Amino acid sequence: MTCNSLPNSDGVLLPIQPAILQDTLDELHARYQSLKTGTPANYIPELAKMDPDWFSICIVTVTGEQVDVGDAQQLFTIQSISKVFVYGLALEDHGRERVLSKVGVEPTGDAFNAIVLDERSKRPYNPMVNAGAIATTSLIKGKGPTERLNRMMEMFERYIGHESFIDMPTFMSERTTGHRNRAMAHLMYNFGMIDEKLDEALDLYFQQCSLMVNCHDLAVMAATLANRGKNPLTGVQAVSPGYVRDILSVMYTCGMYNFAGEWAYTVGLPAKSGVSGGLIVVVPNRMGIAVFSPPLDERGNSVRGVQVCEELSQRFGLHLFDCSSQSEAAVSQHSPNAEPQLDQSPNQNSESGGRVGKDHETSSLSGQESQSSPTP
Ligand code: GLN
Repeated sequence: MTCNSLPNSDGVLLPIQPAILQDTLDELHARYQSLKTGTPANYIPELAKMDPDWFSICIVTVTGEQVDVGDAQQLFTIQSISKVFVYGLALEDHGRERVLSKVGVEPTGDAFNAIVLDERSKRPYNPMVNAGAIATTSLIKGKGPTERLNRMMEMFERYIGHESFIDMPTFMSERTTGHRNRAMAHLMYNFGMIDEKLDEALDLYFQQCSLMVNCHDLAVMAATLANRGKNPLTGVQAVSPGYVRDILSVMYTCGMYNFAGEWAYTVGLPAKSGVSGGLIVVVPNRMGIAVFSPPLDERGNSVRGVQVCEELSQRFGLHLFDCSSQSEAAVSQHSPNAEPQLDQSPNQNSESGGRVGKDHETSSLSGQESQSSPTP
């Protein structure tokens, strides 16, 4: 199966050579490094300390290939990107119906931190805005705060593939200044959308936002969603495959806040951004893309992140509704001769995978040898 490909002029998918992908990321990184618009978030005092020049782009494919450019190892707090994964855990804990009774799936034209609930149902609009995320977090099961936190950390580590930790200064910074989030929690308690353990839910929410990751980790997490919930590097099932559809749907419609419609139109892929400047994009059955760059636009999305993803989607024909590439992808995925890409064992995955660079020019990301070049 061709899983990482771009269409030629006839719309036929060809595998993307790792060297081409590396060259493309190098080029985009060099070009957008000089883009100086936007400012890092400062409403959480710890975030204001981030260097606006930090910038990285990482891709991990479902077959385990990895391409990193820039400050890929720089740690930062995951912020709102955590909402995606905690939503998956809430679905596993309670099932679709109960979660839906507490948190909607409707996009909102409002800012991510708007203090607003659906007037009719009294639910927060969706799990990707703060109110919905706090309600989602309040659903995480556990006997007390420690067990709930441990379950959440174990979940994150299944996606990341290694141990992680919470940044205490950011957690304390959010805890002491998060008055809007507290106001939302009280409003939701008033309407019976969350229970009386408000402070416990808020602490867990601030902790999930303060999880430390780097851009490479985010690409692995996105690739795990692209790979039906199975981490392509470790083979660990991070979330039940049955809920990946729910997660990707709300990412697609709500992941970029009040930019979600324009994003769906131009990039056409499920995504999630966070105020620390991270951005993940899922290319289902193919790859996870992550960009990290702290300066944000007025909607709270990374300026460089949005630009890079728009270009990547266009160059490689990644838009989900781009008939010239996607219809071909669907054909190749259902071909009787197609290899069962998604059911590879962890060992197969790690054997086929590996970091790529200019010194690996003979292998292709899909394991095929045909040549292609990115055409805008
Ligand atoms: N922790 C941040 C907050 O609650 C997360 C917001 C975001 O990343 N958009 O405001």
